[in-house]
Amino acid sequence: MKEGTKRKVIKGDGRISLLGKNDSFAPEPPESLKQETEEDLVLNISLRPSKLSEFVGQKDLIENLKICLTAAKERKEPLEHTLFSGPPGLGKTSLSHIIAHEMNSKITVTSGPAIERAGDLIGILTNLEKGDILFIDEIHRLSKVVEEFLYPAMENFQIDFVIDKGPYAKTIKFNLKPFTLVGATTRVGLLTAPLRGRFGIFYHLDFYPVEDLAKIIMHSAKVLSLDIDRQAAEEIARRARGTPRIANRLLRRVRDYAQVLKIKKVTQEGASDTLDDLGVDKAGFDEIDRRVLKLILETYEGGPVGIEAVAASLNEEVDTLVDAVEPYLLKSGYLKRTSRGRMATKSAYEHFGLKYKKEKQKELFEK
Ligand code: ADP
Repeated sequence: MKEGTKRKVIKGDGRISLLGKNDSFAPEPPESLKQETEEDLVLNISLRPSKLSEFVGQKDLIENLKICLTAAKERKEPLEHTLFSGPPGLGKTSLSHIIAHEMNSKITVTSGPAIERAGDLIGILTNLEKGDILFIDEIHRLSKVVEEFLYPAMENFQIDFVIDKGPYAKTIKFNLKPFTLVGATTRVGLLTAPLRGRFGIFYHLDFYPVEDLAKIIMHSAKVLSLDIDRQAAEEIARRARGTPRIANRLLRRVRDYAQVLKIKKVTQEGASDTLDDLGVDKAGFDEIDRRVLKLILETYEGGPVGIEAVAASLNEEVDTLVDAVEPYLLKSGYLKRTSRGRMATKSAYEHFGLKYKKEKQKELFEK
């Protein structure tokens, strides 16, 4: 089997192994990993912070997590089930690996859509040792049946499974070893209340400020043996949509340019030219951001417009827009959410050199 066709990573204390397709509980790779090329995937793993001390930013979250980890270690108990929410690429998967590292335990990685039937989980759960981490990416996409199967596993470390059918059906209880479920979701609102309620620890990750992204870029540049100055790192950071994964991806593209053009040290000007060439503009918008904003500005005269109409006009999935595109546009103040739909803001008009229709906006808000 080719390396690329192997499924997701089972990792323990820094070691990584891949499960083959025919292994009994081999899950599909999480959605967030599918978008990356093979090279990106490998680099992502090497750029991924493996210890708490290497994780940049999200100060409050990290302080709090440190306390929870220390307390659990002192009690010699597994960490409570933990849920991370936030847009893609902000470090949810990295944090789950960090938790495994800090707890000195093994991590098994899977994702909501990969677990089609409750049976898929039996193998995974029964193979967990005391204190192991089970990471479920996109946990909001678990089916109802699988989710309900998880409840007793989370609550009492027990699973019930039914063998045989019809009159011969028997329920067998199976005791699991106490483990920690770490869930990640881009859409916490889609999680059912009973599932959300079973997590003892809940963190939301927010977009990163430029200083933190620049720090991540400087560190990644070192790992990639790329000489880059601080201003160049900041230039990349400003265009990275507040997202470490994008910052690292842009850095790798800058590295390609530097290599081909035989540039020894990347300067702000060099980084800026490369990013312009790549179609990443000064606000960090990529192609899809611009298509969304332009559609709202030009076709819908600034909005308000429902997200479904935007998705249909652009031939994109509503989920993609809601999960990966609009959070940054909302956060950075180019888009507004109103009860009647999405609206472009003054900054959006200005970004595209269009005249802001103040009257229309005022009139809409007064209604
Ligand atoms: P998510 O699971 O939220 O989609 P990941 O944990 O996969 O995000 O992060 C994507 C990449 O971004 C990681 O491989 C890592 O290189 C980088 N990264 C994310 N957060 C941080 C951080 N706080 N410090 C350093 N690098 C980070």
